Amino acid sequence: MKTILVIEDEEFVRENILELLDAEGFEVIGAENGRIGIDLAQEVRPDLILCDVMMPELDGYSVLAKLRQDPVLATTPFILLTAKAAKADFRQGMELGADDYITKPFTRAELLGAIAIRLKKQAAVQEHYNTELQEAKAQLNYLIHHDSLTKLPNRLSLRERFKQVQPQDTDTEKVVAVLCLGLDRFNHIIDPLGHTVGDSLLKAVAERLTTCVGKDTVARLNTDQFAIILANVDHKKEAGNIAQTILEKLSHTYVLAGQEIFITASIGIALYPHDGAEIEQLLAAANTAMTQAKQHGGDQYQLYSAAFNIGSSDRLALQSSLRHALEREELRVYYQPQLNLQTGQIVGAEALVRWQHPERGIVSPDKFVPLAEETGLIVPIGEWVLRTACKQTKAWQDEGFPFLRIAVNLSSRQFSQIDLRRQLVEILMDTGLDPKFIELELTESMLVQNTEVAIRRLNALKSLGVEIAIDDFGTGYSSLSYLQQFPFDILKIDRCFIRNITENANNAAITKAIIAMAKSLNLKLVAEGVETEAELSFVRQNQCDGMQGYLFSRPVPAEDFKQLLMADKRLPLPIS
Ligand code: C2E
Ligand code: MG
Ligand code: MG
Repeated sequence: MKTILVIEDEEFVRENILELLDAEGFEVIGAENGRIGIDLAQEVRPDLILCDVMMPELDGYSVLAKLRQDPVLATTPFILLTAKAAKADFRQGMELGADDYITKPFTRAELLGAIAIRLKKQAAVQEHYNTELQEAKAQLNYLIHHDSLTKLPNRLSLRERFKQVQPQDTDTEKVVAVLCLGLDRFNHIIDPLGHTVGDSLLKAVAERLTTCVGKDTVARLNTDQFAIILANVDHKKEAGNIAQTILEKLSHTYVLAGQEIFITASIGIALYPHDGAEIEQLLAAANTAMTQAKQHGGDQYQLYSAAFNIGSSDRLALQSSLRHALEREELRVYYQPQLNLQTGQIVGAEALVRWQHPERGIVSPDKFVPLAEETGLIVPIGEWVLRTACKQTKAWQDEGFPFLRIAVNLSSRQFSQIDLRRQLVEILMDTGLDPKFIELELTESMLVQNTEVAIRRLNALKSLGVEIAIDDFGTGYSSLSYLQQFPFDILKIDRCFIRNITENANNAAITKAIIAMAKSLNLKLVAEGVETEAELSFVRQNQCDGMQGYLFSRPVPAEDFKQLLMADKRLPLPIS
């Protein structure tokens, strides 16, 4: 049933309209002045609003102007009722966004006619919007699950495909083999021939692989690497035989742009369940074995053996000095400004850890966070970062930037720690920072292992008042249906979708679809890694809420961040 709100100060007129519409089967609500009308509209979200123009205090135009600012009511059909029929009045109402005008006195037929037209239009608009959203969803799902060049499934699809073929019954003899295939010296071969030939070669390789594996899955991992999942191989030897056949087929001549090209590949093989229970572990193992095959000259396969995995001495050295980094106070927190795209102002910062190594200089987190994660050192390091960032933010707030927000990255281990919530409470008490200014950034891979537990943890953190951001969105395993289950507040679009957005139509399409989806889920959108003016204007035009990136500032030490705040440095606003 459609609900109609009638805002009319003259009781007699109002009651008349209400009675008439009630008899027509509408749900009706009356408001005797503009103020009550606005409150009711926001509360009940009617399907249509009839509103008198001439009312004491707040007139119909003011009501209209106010409601058009409300995102939900901005498109609700709004019909003005007026005794005057002056042209200037019509124009004023239309400019404010009224949908129609009815002049008093009006007949029953005029009123019902105008209402019917508006409701029909609205239904059409709604339907159009729904189909667009459906299309965007389908398109996005396709785009995020496929590689645009070869049309093969991409890394994101692998997890799902793996789940589908993973034997449920543990006594089964069958194993699943995960193959990582890398083309040998790909850049070397392609550089003199150019990228167009390179792309054609990759497509041809993808086609050969697809014919080789039949019903099994082939996915593209990155430029010159592919993964294959062989469901149901009886033993290792069979996986090896298949790998050998693939190598042979791939090494036949390719004729591209009138030239003959030869290329070989290296394959690493990992077996489920022997080498790992999860696709990530299996891929990592297969990758290690592939590297080994390359080191042995390529054009061959290797089965994974745990012995490959001994870390290099460099890694070991780094690991032992990382143990002391915290005690020796070698860690630093850098801050990268986050900006509101509408106002151009700095609204917060992302805290990013650095290691000031006595000999190596600044070591970036990509080098030591994974190591710290493996060894468990990430737990005390992460706690230290959280505490330092909260303390710093509170200090800046007290120095005159009371609304400054802080985003802190959580690692997988930290997130699965039982007492993370307690730790956070303690930090909040010690530093006095209001939790509503904190955003915790998580990545998708941390949530996929055990969805239910993850949702429970997220809700427990959110109950403290902090916001949750999904970081590096699009690079993990997200499907949209999956994303909807989690109570996120913010979505950070990964830099890989922002890069060269103006030249890469596929990236632009994915990014637009991500934005449409995030909006429909009411998430705040932040674009990461904006480096150029063109990227900035793209994210701005596509209604992102915020951004961070080198264009405005790199992550900087606390003192430098303070300078940016004091100078009130802003993003230039577009000239409109
Ligand atoms: P992230 O959370 O996605 O952080 C964004 C990364 O993008 C940062 O790299 C930042 O310096 C970089 N970036 C920002 N703007 C641009 C740009 O315009 N162009 C380019 N090319 N890059 C840009 P960073 O600081 O090296 O951090 C790398 C990753 O390390 C972070 O990715 C995050 O996952 C992790 N990390 C950093 N600090 C911490 C921490 O305290 N705890 C945990 N668990 N992880 C951290
Ligand atoms: Mg982050
Ligand atoms: Mg990120």
